[in-house]
Amino acid sequence: MKQKPPQFEVLVKEVVGDEVVPLLRALGARRNVSEFKLAEKLKLNINQVRHLLYKMHEHNLVTSTRRKDKKKGWYIYYWTFHVQEAKALLTIHQQTKLERLKKELVEESTQDHFICKSECLRLTPEEALENEFKCPECGEVMVQEVKEKHIEELKKQIAYLEQEMTAQSQEQKKPKNKTAKKKETKKKKPIRRRSQNKKLAGGKS
Ligand SMILES: [Zn+2]
Repeated sequence: MKQKPPQFEVLVKEVVGDEVVPLLRALGARRNVSEFKLAEKLKLNINQVRHLLYKMHEHNLVTSTRRKDKKKGWYIYYWTFHVQEAKALLTIHQQTKLERLKKELVEESTQDHFICKSECLRLTPEEALENEFKCPECGEVMVQEVKEKHIEELKKQIAYLEQEMTAQSQEQKKPKNKTAKKKETKKKKPIRRRSQNKKLAGGKS
């Protein structure tokens, strides 16, 4: 596996935080990368890199081994992105996200809201009625929120996520067959047949 799928970036961003994305990229699919190499690559000091690595480690997203530097006498840690753990975490994360989106869709479809021009607050019809349809913050008249766009957006997100999850589970079901992968050769250029082209061009009525 040479390239790490971009979905891990989304996962790491959402689960650990934006700041670890460069680290994930620096680690890539390489194994046992020295923390000093990572620091150099990311232009950070060793403590900053370790801080990021520990954050990843909290979610079991990296593993490490240590080796003693014989000359200097101290330990150097070597890190690897934990792909299997990331896949498992990704599945859980996506399921939670999907449930949340579906719940939001139901709520959004069944519940109306009132907002003012400046969108200070978003109130239920009951709350809006209590305030005589005037925004408690700015005094503007509150109107019923147009929710179709939001609903469409939620539906899109749900469909996208479901598609992604299906693709992943199919990917995992695939037996790992190295010989089959080797058979994949470059696509041959199609041979142009002049006579056939002529026929096709002439056949138009
Ligand atoms: Zn307002």
